[in-house]
Amino acid sequence: MTTSGSRAEFLAVDALGSTSDIKYDRTGGWFVSTRRALLLGLLAIASMVLVGVLVHYLDTCRGLRTGTELISVTEASVATPNTPKDGAESSISAAELRLPKDVTPSHYRLRLEPYLEDADPDGKNFTYNGHVSITIQCHRTTNRVSIHAKNLDIGKDVKVAVAAPRNSGATSETAVRTLANTTPNPITTTPGGLRRKRSLTRNHHRRRQRTVTSTAPPGLPPRVTGCVPEVRKEMYVISVEPSLEPGLTYTLDIPFKGLLKESLYGFYRSSYKDENDTKIWMAPTQFEPTHAREAFPCFDEPAMKARFEISIARRRDDMITLSNMPVRVTEPIEGQPGRVWDHYEITPKMSTYLVAFIVARSDFIPTNDTGATYLNPRSRNTTVPEFRVYARRQLIQTAQYASSIGPRVLDFYGEYFGMPYPLPKLHMAAIPDFSLGAMENWGLLTYRETNLLFDSKSSSMSSKEGVAIVVAHELAHQWFGNLVTMKWWNDLWLNEGFATYMEYLGSDHVEPSWAMIDKFLVYEQQPAMALDGLRSTHPVSTTVDNPSQISEIFDYVSYSKGASLIRMLNNSLTEEVLRKGLTRYLNKWKYSNAEENDLWQVLTEETLVSRESSLPDNVTVRQVMDTWTLQDGYPVLSVTRDYDDGSANLSQTRFTLDNSSSDTTWYIPVSYVTQNEMNDAANSSRRTFPRIWLKKEPTTEVHDLTKNNSYDTWVLFNIYATGYYRVNYDTRNWGLLPAVTRAQLLDDALNLARAGILGYDVALNMTQYLATGENHYVPWTAAFENFKFLDLVLRQTTAYGCFQKYILKTLAAVTESLGFEATTTETQLQSLLRPDILAWLSKMDDPEVVRWAKNLFQLWTTSSKPDTENPVRVDVRGVVYCTAVKTGGTQEWDFVLKRYLAAANRPSESDVLLMSLACSRQEWLIVTLLEKSLESGGEIRLQDVSRLWDNMASRDLTSRVAFRYIQNKWSSIFEKYGKDEYLMGDILHGAISGLSTEFDLTYVREFYRANKGKFSFAERKIEQELEGLELRVGWHNRSYGTVASWLQDHQGGQKVKRE
Ligand SMILES: [Zn+2]
Repeated sequence: MTTSGSRAEFLAVDALGSTSDIKYDRTGGWFVSTRRALLLGLLAIASMVLVGVLVHYLDTCRGLRTGTELISVTEASVATPNTPKDGAESSISAAELRLPKDVTPSHYRLRLEPYLEDADPDGKNFTYNGHVSITIQCHRTTNRVSIHAKNLDIGKDVKVAVAAPRNSGATSETAVRTLANTTPNPITTTPGGLRRKRSLTRNHHRRRQRTVTSTAPPGLPPRVTGCVPEVRKEMYVISVEPSLEPGLTYTLDIPFKGLLKESLYGFYRSSYKDENDTKIWMAPTQFEPTHAREAFPCFDEPAMKARFEISIARRRDDMITLSNMPVRVTEPIEGQPGRVWDHYEITPKMSTYLVAFIVARSDFIPTNDTGATYLNPRSRNTTVPEFRVYARRQLIQTAQYASSIGPRVLDFYGEYFGMPYPLPKLHMAAIPDFSLGAMENWGLLTYRETNLLFDSKSSSMSSKEGVAIVVAHELAHQWFGNLVTMKWWNDLWLNEGFATYMEYLGSDHVEPSWAMIDKFLVYEQQPAMALDGLRSTHPVSTTVDNPSQISEIFDYVSYSKGASLIRMLNNSLTEEVLRKGLTRYLNKWKYSNAEENDLWQVLTEETLVSRESSLPDNVTVRQVMDTWTLQDGYPVLSVTRDYDDGSANLSQTRFTLDNSSSDTTWYIPVSYVTQNEMNDAANSSRRTFPRIWLKKEPTTEVHDLTKNNSYDTWVLFNIYATGYYRVNYDTRNWGLLPAVTRAQLLDDALNLARAGILGYDVALNMTQYLATGENHYVPWTAAFENFKFLDLVLRQTTAYGCFQKYILKTLAAVTESLGFEATTTETQLQSLLRPDILAWLSKMDDPEVVRWAKNLFQLWTTSSKPDTENPVRVDVRGVVYCTAVKTGGTQEWDFVLKRYLAAANRPSESDVLLMSLACSRQEWLIVTLLEKSLESGGEIRLQDVSRLWDNMASRDLTSRVAFRYIQNKWSSIFEKYGKDEYLMGDILHGAISGLSTEFDLTYVREFYRANKGKFSFAERKIEQELEGLELRVGWHNRSYGTVASWLQDHQGGQKVKRE
């Protein structure tokens, strides 16, 4: 899954879960209130006790039925607002939150009848009827089967039956056949994906059926005696009599009803407007990590893999459905004229979180190109999967880019991993309302529209890059994640770290001129290190038990740090070892689950047979990687040279932004190059290779690093920053270092200075080279990230004027060479750099840029058709709109708001417009925007709220206004969005990370104290925000003076008052 990122991927937005339930209730649904549900449950249990003897004869959940209402598990009852973190889940032990392993599923027969625009036979739309038959294997005698279900109404006819006899030798396929014939299932199917295998077993099967009855265990067949929701565990417990027995296969039949929710998780509803401005509904899914249980009852843990045989009902003439596999057959539904079943082929064994389906109108259409022609000759013998991109008709033209690169990336991965994509088709669908960036559901990948669709008329170069990156990420998951899955969510980083690492290889393969490999450093590693330098970070591999903890680790640590560790491994073990190891790992664990140690094991084996690998003797990959994945943070390597004898002392210590002491140590692969060696081109490809390992020891000596008396030559460590650590040098070496690997040096130096490890004057001196003609996108991106911090902490000081002048001076040369206008011959990197340069010029109030932007904007406002005729070039729209709103008033803001409301069918444009609204310097307009963002069903799509808030922090003033806003309204915000940890995290980030003074800190601490317990799902986020603010305040006390006088010396201007 793709979540947040510095580019086009954004964090999740949920979840008006409880609100939508309440709404539904009002329209007469069968959901009941929590208290009532619990009361009914208690009554039901009591009545079951009273009629104990009768229970034996009941084979259903009817004990739970009262009148016409069924017990339901509503979201509100799962975690009510105001429930402190400790209250909600701590009383349930970690073990209890996991499903018992007494039974495991092997096959799901799932039928869904959604009513999107029509009412169901009971007169309700936005609901669905479902039925699932699950084949389960019993491993330990038990009379209780626990299964996940959340916000579903489980029907009365829950049944358990024996499906195959003990030791019958029945394969799971034959067991499934038995199921189809012995349960009252109106759909009998010939499983498509396994068609050949099945037809071979059919005759055996007939004979075996007799065996089922003759060898069935003595006594009564199992009957369901109770079916009790365990709401806080998001489970149902089905009791049976007599007990299920090990070695036997059973079928579990569960009818249920569900709601197509407004929240963006589970099976939910999304909408868009067609050509005639009519609202059109569709229903997609988002299951990762723990939302499959909200769509159908299932064993919702990644290691409980099974096959899925899915059928979905729809209107025949104007609707379509999609799922993981191709449709096997479509047939009319008896008694429902005009409606049909789409029966899908059976999936391979897979995890529940990767199941997906979409119900949509027929104007949700595919690209024409099936991708069948993409494969290169060496792949001729492999089966070509059908490759298509789906989008609403109005936007399908913009799917061209994704549909052209997708198959090529898929082919590249097939080669890289040494095995072709295993499913018969691959569809990517652009969903109008989507919480995350994208989701890798096997065979049916779903995306936020802006991450899949690229319209050269309204999307910028960075949007295009975003599409390439996100597509490459999700496709990598088809192997890493889907084929081999982590055993439990603590190893999520393996999935996400690998997909993030691979997205750079995949996008580089299709866009070789984009320097994607170089961008890894500034897109992933440096942002990860910035956050991983906080004390409140967490290890890559971390214990998670409950759903909110699981959601919380979809963060920079799992994605960006995980990817950086894989990159470090690639450079230490060699690419060949990593690749061969991966192929072996995927083959060994395919259709199954693995943990990080399984990967370390195969990699160690590969290093032993490789002549190239540089692992220290008698050290395993696991020993090395445990220091990186089980410990939090990362080291700074300090290099102190002895210039007389040519040696150096290397020492390691944990890097934290508050420079606190720690005795954590790592296995550090150390690469370096001396000035003389740099001229030797022969070895250039091996420069990232470790020449020394620091083996979990605090210090080591390197002799003969340079020739003696090398006073005037430099040594550079951690080449291309392929190691996930920073390097500090003695002051002399810092002074000698040239502008090679500029992005790395800048980021290390400025962060070491920020932490008080290196003098700020040394670090700031390094930024001076930028003014001498640096025009590469990567070092500028690293510089801007660091200037952003200085901008933030200096914003309210007298030194800000000098800072502005210094930045403007620094930007002069690159602005001169790039110009304001794009040329037809420029590189992708130049196209990406220009908007950033212009945005910084605008931020620094450069009069020329402000004038230019205002003129362009003015020209646009005079257009008679501003929604279709826009004189502002796509790539600079962000900076033009923002500058106009920032320097303008209500008129400009209203104009942008109107354009935003009219841009619903141009997702990228709509995104740029919304973010520009936050540039206003008028408090009441910012408050209006915040107010609009939290209005349910209002003008701002729920999926965009997160991103809007996240953006608040980067603007003048907005963070402070946003903080005051949440300070006043926290209770109601928490009540409404408290269950959405992603959104809560972004709201807190937007409101706090733009603050920097002691005064702010007092208020934020007070806010934290007053609302403790009301951050439940975003507890780590608020701690990180608080720590960040403390560091900024601490920075003022420690570094302000040095920085202010440095800026003054390098800028001229007025004497700055020291604070
Ligand atoms: Zn992912």
